[in-house]
Amino acid sequence: MIPRRLTGSKGKGMLDAVGALSLLALGFVGGGSFFAQERSFDLVIANGRVMDPESGLDAVRNVGIRDGKIITISTAPLNGRQTIEAKGLVVSPGFIDLHEHGQEPRNYQFQARDGVTTSLELEAGTNDVARWYAEREGKSLINFGVSIGHIPVRAQVVGHAKGDLVSSITRSTEAEAALHREATPDELSEMKALIETGLKQGALAEGMGINYTPGATRWEIIEMFRLAAKYYAPVHVHLRYAGLIEPETGLNAIEEVIAAAAATGAPLHVVHITSMGLRNTPQLIAMVEGARQRGLDVTTECYPYTAGSTGLHTAVFDPGWQARMGIDYKDVQWAETGERLTAETFEKYRKQGGIVVIHMIPEEAARIAVANPMVMIASDGMPITGAKVHPRGQGTFSRVLGHYVREEKALDLMTALKKMTLMPAQRLEKRAPVFNNKGRIRVGADADITIFDPDRVIDKATFDEPLQYSEGISFVVVNGIPVVKDGKLVEGVLPGRAMRAPISQ
Ligand SMILES: [Zn+2]
Repeated sequence: MIPRRLTGSKGKGMLDAVGALSLLALGFVGGGSFFAQERSFDLVIANGRVMDPESGLDAVRNVGIRDGKIITISTAPLNGRQTIEAKGLVVSPGFIDLHEHGQEPRNYQFQARDGVTTSLELEAGTNDVARWYAEREGKSLINFGVSIGHIPVRAQVVGHAKGDLVSSITRSTEAEAALHREATPDELSEMKALIETGLKQGALAEGMGINYTPGATRWEIIEMFRLAAKYYAPVHVHLRYAGLIEPETGLNAIEEVIAAAAATGAPLHVVHITSMGLRNTPQLIAMVEGARQRGLDVTTECYPYTAGSTGLHTAVFDPGWQARMGIDYKDVQWAETGERLTAETFEKYRKQGGIVVIHMIPEEAARIAVANPMVMIASDGMPITGAKVHPRGQGTFSRVLGHYVREEKALDLMTALKKMTLMPAQRLEKRAPVFNNKGRIRVGADADITIFDPDRVIDKATFDEPLQYSEGISFVVVNGIPVVKDGKLVEGVLPGRAMRAPISQ
């Protein structure tokens, strides 16, 4: 459709450099070969099956990239200083992961090999947004971003804890006890000030994990939503309960946050809906769909696995956890060694503190959420603290494409790509306009592109061997720079940029 503009009614006489430039200014340039010959591209992705969930384009095209942007999408051949031959491969917008706790170089390498070009820590977040971005600026393989996190802010104010959220999930601290107690009015004021500072410093969202902060009252949650509403920041929330027995159920807990969103106007994003809903996941999805149909800005996400993962020392394992989650000691696995727990080792490791994998999500729940076109894909990847960490940080996106799309036929490829590219970008673009140019293969969009073999793509990370790269992700481009080539990481490139909301102080 785009080349027709250049070769059709306007005729060849219009196709001079001036015409091309004015069309470029209007965003209409599609790429007759005349244009390509005028100036070569930094990078050309040739002969790939371009799939763009926004426009619906699904056809063989050549993509021309210059200065980190997509300049043309063309049926005609293009000249580039570098060319990726993508015949037989899918050329997709790079995957955007809304939920990755491991925000370190090693995690970024695993994520790049899984097709991720933007990795965001929006659930737990940080208590120091400015410092968090400063630590990663110019040093990252892929794009990165963070939320201001209610858990670390509360740990700082109520528990006088130092450090950010990851430390509160990975290690036992005195903060843990404080997270179980109600905040005083002064502490609530201090928390609100810190949350607002983080939003002014460009946090992409407000992160909450109410299950980890059982001392937070209903009103404390409402107050946090009110601040998010003021900045149109989505609240990415791990619900208060993930249980099966009333009143401590996922259904009860999702009512709390949908009510908070309705009463305050804050956008709401419910994280990992399968590990909250367990066998009742379809009921939780129905609540999100119903809220959306009534005009609320509510979204959700899932990871494609039948186990969760968190800190054994956290409130998630407060007494009664077996009945709440419908599991027992044997279903809990110590990440450092992979051993299944007993009553004895549970007590020992809970005192020590550390990550466990929790086998608790029915396969049917995982499948229903992955297949639902409204539920986004996000990994919830964990910091790599031991040999047996959860595989989701390493294999989520390839697992959806290889296992659920190709093998199980649970959903079609374009729908799957939409759930991992366009939808996460749309979730964030009202708050952070940088996402207007992410998640799309479109002229003018950022050249974040994932190129994979739809017949081969598959996750290799398993619960037994989690530190394995995915297969079939052939090339990954971040801001126009290849970070994966011929299925291997490229050495010495750090093209990742900060994904941040406008800074207002
Ligand atoms: Zn969570």
